[in-house]
Amino acid sequence: MHYAFQSLVLLLLAGAVGCAPAAEPTNAPAIRIVASDWGRAQPDEIEAVVRSAAAVLGDLVERRAPLAIVVQPAAEHPEVEYEKNARGEYVMALSARDRRWAQFAYQFGHEWCHILANFDHRVSANGEPLNQYQWFEEVLCETAALFTLRTLASRWQSAPPYPHWKNYAPWFADYADAMLAADHRSHAQLQVLSSWYAENGEVLARDPYERRRNDFCAAALLPLFESDASQWNALRYLNLEHAAAEPTFAGYLARWQATVPEKHRHFVATIAAAFARKNVADEAAPQLSSTTHVSLQ
Ligand SMILES: [Zn+2]
Repeated sequence: MHYAFQSLVLLLLAGAVGCAPAAEPTNAPAIRIVASDWGRAQPDEIEAVVRSAAAVLGDLVERRAPLAIVVQPAAEHPEVEYEKNARGEYVMALSARDRRWAQFAYQFGHEWCHILANFDHRVSANGEPLNQYQWFEEVLCETAALFTLRTLASRWQSAPPYPHWKNYAPWFADYADAMLAADHRSHAQLQVLSSWYAENGEVLARDPYERRRNDFCAAALLPLFESDASQWNALRYLNLEHAAAEPTFAGYLARWQATVPEKHRHFVATIAAAFARKNVADEAAPQLSSTTHVSLQ
């Protein structure tokens, strides 16, 4: 009887859940802004800006387990910590202050990308950090930051967080334009990445924070993502399957290509081909099984 009663209760509960309106699929992270010294900006204003920035990539990646981010002022440079805090939140620090909304969006867009790119999977089987391809993740996150700015520039024209914030929309475009116009990004295009990587690959493997090199590469990749924004979902599969332990960069990209769903495979192959050394058969990306399947929680 006891078990029958329990079953009945469970059935009733299941029925109640079944009758509830379906929850809207949301990829928006829970965001909490630490009340601290942000200069002339209030935490609720910063929250509105970074929520808007989070929605740019959040709207483009497929449903995932809910996650939470706490945002605090950075003493030096923006970063997101490997370890979550005791509340289960990713701890993100931003160096933007005052009402520099474009800088907030740019920095948040970059760090949010690291979270979506499984940055905490870049470790060996025994937990040692593996950083030789981290530069590529930095490049993708720089690309994501520019993409976030340019998306917000148009989104705030029609749907700013508050109606009177519409006038801030051009700030995002101006910020992105100024960066893309910098000398060290000039002539950045997909067609030169092969020779560029041949010259810069070793330096990048040693130092993933070679900013000017990363900036160049990000500017070259941006049009690819802007031509099909749905491909940002491929980010969710970066660094999985112990890709960071691959002996070559071509192998790392081939692992990514084998791990993404079919709809992203051609896109990742296009990126891999852009970096591949041309006309040298043995530099071609190694073939991995295309049946590898990874489920995301
Ligand atoms: Zn970064």
